Amino acid sequence: MLLLQNARIASENSPVLLESDVLIVEGKIQDIGSKLPIPEGARVIDARGRVLLPGMFDAHVHFRAPGFENKETITTGSEAAINGGITGVVMMPNTRPALDSATTVATVLENAKDRSRIPVYTSGCVTKNREGKELAEIEGMRGLGVKMLTDDGDTTNDPAVLLRAMQYATEFGMFFASHCEVPELAGPRALNEGVMSYRLGIKGSPACAEEIIIDRDIRLARAAGAHVHIQHVSSKLGMETIRWWKSRGDVKVTAEVAPHHLLFTDEHIGDYDTNYKMNPPLRTQADCDALLEGLIAGVFDLIATDHAPHTPFEKAQDFISAPNGITGLDTALVSLHHFFVAPGKFGWDLVVKRYSAEPRRLMSLPVPSIAVGQSADCVLFDTEAETTFTREFMKSKSQNTPFIDQTLKGRVDLVILGTEILLEREEL
Ligand SMILES: [Zn+2]
Repeated sequence: MLLLQNARIASENSPVLLESDVLIVEGKIQDIGSKLPIPEGARVIDARGRVLLPGMFDAHVHFRAPGFENKETITTGSEAAINGGITGVVMMPNTRPALDSATTVATVLENAKDRSRIPVYTSGCVTKNREGKELAEIEGMRGLGVKMLTDDGDTTNDPAVLLRAMQYATEFGMFFASHCEVPELAGPRALNEGVMSYRLGIKGSPACAEEIIIDRDIRLARAAGAHVHIQHVSSKLGMETIRWWKSRGDVKVTAEVAPHHLLFTDEHIGDYDTNYKMNPPLRTQADCDALLEGLIAGVFDLIATDHAPHTPFEKAQDFISAPNGITGLDTALVSLHHFFVAPGKFGWDLVVKRYSAEPRRLMSLPVPSIAVGQSADCVLFDTEAETTFTREFMKSKSQNTPFIDQTLKGRVDLVILGTEILLEREEL
């Protein structure tokens, strides 16, 4: 039994935080009200000044298992999620072996049951071994509950293969998540084509490489009657393309944006800092501004980190050779607070809607809220405290993030899931 006193409750439906006591009994929210009586045997936590949110859900993470456990495991990845106030994730299938069959998916789901304290879901490949040629074992994966199909990390290059996959899998109620990139235009460089690429002397990857596939895949989905979800959008015209297709209303399209694409530009790369190397690449301030506008306007349905751990050895290589991607689970919620909620650019309602509720709706999962009768799935967040992202603080096995050793405003103090307290900061 747990009584949180004077918490400020956040909801996706209202920008107003409602101050209240919350009583949790046997993993369920039993009562909400002011000055609730303290039941015998209840633990009381003074939550005054803190915000109580439903647990976040990240629909785009790389946990690297099987095959790359030196970067991350299901255990370290899910602990990083809990550290950041996230109580559910969807893994991407670009592992080794790739998750393209019932056998590989079953192994991952079994491991996740034993090795993670939060629900871990996985997506499945569109094509065998992500090679873009033959369809993956879509029906078998669907039997194990896979909803999302993606060759993330690469675009499914052959539109005929993708169209066939879309027609086939849509009958099973599955949807497609698209990593958008024309490989012949983008090359392996992960640096925006522009002033910065000229200055650094590296041939850049133009935004049109992304925008062409955003448009192509939505057109294919329309032709197939399929639902397509556009992953990690980085460009203004990409956002505008999605906005235009959504305004037509004759195709089911959803889209996500990552915190790093809202926050950083190619200028941050400075002298080849590989902690700013990701794919799609960081673009310009005009792109960041447009993505933020798109998030506030609802062009983006969800926020997802694209958590992409790599070892220090790999990221210490030169800018061309270093792998793409940064970690995001430990840092996402605090950084959203520091850069957007605290300065008043958007409210907690947007965070709850876009990083807790909509990602679960995308996956057809129940949506938690702080309401009587709901299962306890909540995060207590201190808006006045600070978090310093030291190596010791991070639970991810890798620390390839621009936030390393930075201090930001906000702290995840408590994470509750059902009858378990998954995280409790010592300072509480
Ligand atoms: Zn991707």
